[in-house]
Amino acid sequence: MRAAGLLVGQTLEVVAAAVADGVTTLELDRLAEAHIRDHGGRPSFPEVPGYRHTLCTSVNEQIVHGIPGERALRAGDLVSIDCGAIVAGWHGDAAVTVIVGGVEAARPEDLALSRATEDSLYAGIAALRVGERLYAVGEAVEACIEAAAAANGQTYGIVEDYVGHTIGTEMHQDPQIFNYAVRTRGPMVRSGYTGAIEPMITLGSAESDVLADGWTVVTSDGSRAAHWEHTVAVRDEGLWVLTAIDGGAARLAALGAAFAPLSD
Ligand code: MG
Ligand code: MG
Repeated sequence: MRAAGLLVGQTLEVVAAAVADGVTTLELDRLAEAHIRDHGGRPSFPEVPGYRHTLCTSVNEQIVHGIPGERALRAGDLVSIDCGAIVAGWHGDAAVTVIVGGVEAARPEDLALSRATEDSLYAGIAALRVGERLYAVGEAVEACIEAAAAANGQTYGIVEDYVGHTIGTEMHQDPQIFNYAVRTRGPMVRSGYTGAIEPMITLGSAESDVLADGWTVVTSDGSRAAHWEHTVAVRDEGLWVLTAIDGGAARLAALGAAFAPLSD
C-alpha cells in the first residue's frame, strides 16, 4: 500500500505543480494518468461504475467529484484535486486543495480555509491509535475545525454527506470514517488498519447538492470548499501516512504522534 500511496502522493505533487491560470482540468487529468501509468500503477477512479477519469477536480463551490473537462482554471480559483491509484492490487487515495496562482492570487479566507482543512486532516490522523475507537477521528476533525473557525473569525461547514473510508484491496471499504463527532465511538482500531481520512470543509453551509452531471457535488449556498485526504496505516508502533511523500514524518512529529514506517 505504500507503493500505491507514494505514487498517488507523487502524482498529486506533479499535478499541483502544473496548476496555473489557463490550464484546463482535463489537462491535469491527462498528466495524472500518464504519471500513474508510467510508474507502474493504474488509476482507480475508472473502476467506479460510470466514471472515466483519473482525477476528480472540484473548483470553488464544488466540494468533491468534479469531472475534469475543458474548464480553464483562473487565478484565485480554489481547486481540490482527488487522485486514486492501484499498484499490485493495493489502493492509495489522497486529495489536496490548491489555489491557482498561489498565495498572491488567493483570497485570504480561501487560504485560511485550505489550511484549516489540512490541519483538521492531520488532527484526525493523529487520533488514529490501536485500541482507540475509529470515530475518535471525527471528534478530532470537528474540534480542530471549530477552533480554526473561532481563530479565523469564520463560520465553517463540515460536510456530512460524504465521508472517509477504510481502504485496501478496494478503494471504498467499510467501515466509513466520519469527519464529525457522532453518538457512538465506532469499531476498535487494530494494528494493520488502513483508512482514508478526508475532511471536506466549506466557508458556509455544510449542505450540498449534486449537479445534473450526476457527479459534481457543490455547496448549496455557493460558498467555496476545500478537501484534503490521506491514506494512513495504523500499527502498534504508530502511524504511516502512506500517501504523504515523507510518510507524514514532519506533520506527525509536530502533533506529537508516533511515526512508524515499515520501510521505503
Ligand atoms: Mg479520494
Ligand atoms: Mg477517499
